[in-house]
Amino acid sequence: MVTLSSVIRPFASQLHRQLFRHANRHRITPVRRCNLAACSSKYVLSQMHPMWQEPLAIPGGDRQSPIDIVIRKSVYDSELKPLVTDYDPQTCQQIWNNGYSFLVEYDDTTDKSTVKGGPLQDKYRLCQFHFHWGESNAWGSEHTVDRKLFSAELHLVHWNSDKYSLFEEAVMEENGLAVIGVFLKVHTSHMERRHVSLDNLNSVVDFNRFDPACLLPSNTDDYWTYHGSLTTPPLTESVTWMVMKQHIEVSHDQLAVFRSLLFTAADEEVQKGMVNNFRVQQSQCGRTVRSSFSPFLQEAPSAEEGKH
Ligand SMILES: [Zn+2]
Repeated sequence: MVTLSSVIRPFASQLHRQLFRHANRHRITPVRRCNLAACSSKYVLSQMHPMWQEPLAIPGGDRQSPIDIVIRKSVYDSELKPLVTDYDPQTCQQIWNNGYSFLVEYDDTTDKSTVKGGPLQDKYRLCQFHFHWGESNAWGSEHTVDRKLFSAELHLVHWNSDKYSLFEEAVMEENGLAVIGVFLKVHTSHMERRHVSLDNLNSVVDFNRFDPACLLPSNTDDYWTYHGSLTTPPLTESVTWMVMKQHIEVSHDQLAVFRSLLFTAADEEVQKGMVNNFRVQQSQCGRTVRSSFSPFLQEAPSAEEGKH
């Protein structure tokens, strides 16, 4: 299993060095257990970002994301090729907090950092990556697998540079975007607890040469794919999702760094920690989730569905 320690640590230390100002602020204490039902409850919605507390206009509406990936309902497609990622760390431009997550942005004016292969017919340019996480390690991912929640989820966002000339154009169009989703799972660690905070929310800082390939699991051949949407406004249904079967690992303290970010601006009276920045799950609406691997091969190649 890939361990994020060696990867996120320099990432986190850059966050510390460049973004954090004060060493003391209140800690957020997880107060509830979580399951999918709880995550959809009014209580949880009330804890979430204001963006989700009002009805949103959703274009189309029957191909929304995220969804629960049901393994036994996914369809193995032997035609699905391995993903081919080719990232140039020098295209990394900056990190910034958009009030909902933090984005690490890449120069997407050329084809220097791309993904192709897998279910994709075209080449897609990397424009940014970001994470979604919870206030507790027990939840935080947007997608789930057989209703299993992960602590966080990484999204690497790419746009179709073969068909379109700008992200803003691709985001509205069919096959415009390709997003790689990677689950993060917390491994037990006795690392010392850090008490840090982010003071300046909207600052844009230099953040160079971060190789996003470091965040991919060792096995990128096995994934699920389906047609869906962005999970933040404009929620356009232009996304080919590729959700990795293999998760990556992160320590509790590393996720604590994420949780020490703030939704609110530094000068606001009531500060709100950046947690639970995930969208609730959406209806599958008859969509098929394809897998690049057969989940039943190892157990019983000819097993009938429903038998155990
Ligand atoms: Zn996302």
